[in-house]
Amino acid sequence: MTPSSTFELSATHAPDNVELAPLGLLVLQPTTFCNIDCSYCYLSHRAENNRMDGATVRAIARFLRGMPLREPQLSVVWHAGEPLTAPIDFYEAAFEALQSGAAPMRFRHHFQTNGMLITDAWCELIKQWSVHVGVSIDGPKAIHDAHRVDRSKRGTFERVMRGVSKLREHDIPFTVIGVLTRNALHAPDDVWRFFETLGATQVALNVEEAEGINASSSLSQDDGGESFRAFIQRIAKLRGANPSIRLREFDGMRGHLTAPPGADVMRADNLPGAIINIDLAGNVTTFSPELLGVEHDRYGKFHWGNVHTDDWQAIIAHPGFRRAYGDILAGIAQCRESCAYFSVCGGGNPSNKLAELGTFAGTETQYCRLHVQAFADLVIEDLEHEIGVS
Ligand code: SF4
Repeated sequence: MTPSSTFELSATHAPDNVELAPLGLLVLQPTTFCNIDCSYCYLSHRAENNRMDGATVRAIARFLRGMPLREPQLSVVWHAGEPLTAPIDFYEAAFEALQSGAAPMRFRHHFQTNGMLITDAWCELIKQWSVHVGVSIDGPKAIHDAHRVDRSKRGTFERVMRGVSKLREHDIPFTVIGVLTRNALHAPDDVWRFFETLGATQVALNVEEAEGINASSSLSQDDGGESFRAFIQRIAKLRGANPSIRLREFDGMRGHLTAPPGADVMRADNLPGAIINIDLAGNVTTFSPELLGVEHDRYGKFHWGNVHTDDWQAIIAHPGFRRAYGDILAGIAQCRESCAYFSVCGGGNPSNKLAELGTFAGTETQYCRLHVQAFADLVIEDLEHEIGVS
């Protein structure tokens, strides 16, 4: 099969000839274990201490060989479980095995970490391999510690900041992801000033999502999104005074809104093969990374093959894949028909549709209203202001 990035999205069932998008992101689960116990976490196995073995890493390298890439270097995110609970020598061996086993493919590794375990030795590994580091921190202590707690329910803020200090000591650039919960909405100035002084190169604002075993979001008790919109409006204003920090949601949406007509806005997590997610046992899924640990009445487990035994042909022939992809296409078609934001969204995030609507074949979710529509409206207002029509 010739991989391609072209898709017929009006179908409401999986087409017979599924074409794969070039691979842009590989998400690997080194361990199920997380050293903390955030109240909004969607992962069900985070207390279990299982780890990917060397044979699985080598099988992943074989699985990847020859795959077309979206960019010259493949981004590999080590995520889901806390990646730094696996030892440094695991990564030394894994990075080498991927590089030699999938040559001439080249990799850019990323850790998305809670930051608490960062030491001088981790910093040396990070520098040696030019690993990109993303730290999960929700804002100042009171806001962060409201949800990001350990198993004794103690806040983790000081321990995260010790890790951030290590990164700074070693001159390692880092980005941050903050999860916005109800606790943050009353304090946009505190949140932004905190991120501004932290030294991150980019701030990403995730909304707390109803996803996985986190059945409801604190933001869903909100006032129809008004306080959320007020929050991001204020954040945008504060960021305007210091545009050197990239603000992922604003800058990404601005990019969509100012793209030339006809530019591709399809989300990677709707495209088969654009994101590949592999768990520590070698099970493979595509679309949203969050699906890897989910089991659902209609779709079962999202394990459509295993790197030890299967290739892409087996995965896209799997009945579970075909059912999921057919429903994802149906949902995108409904979005295109019904939603004024389709041109900047592309039909949304499958894992959020599943969590909130119980199916991929649906449209609007709270995630859409907050993470897509509210940001789009704000950026449109900004653009109108810039050209003098508001
Ligand atoms: S914002 Fe929601 S409803 Fe609109 S296109 Fe995106 S996923 Fe579909």
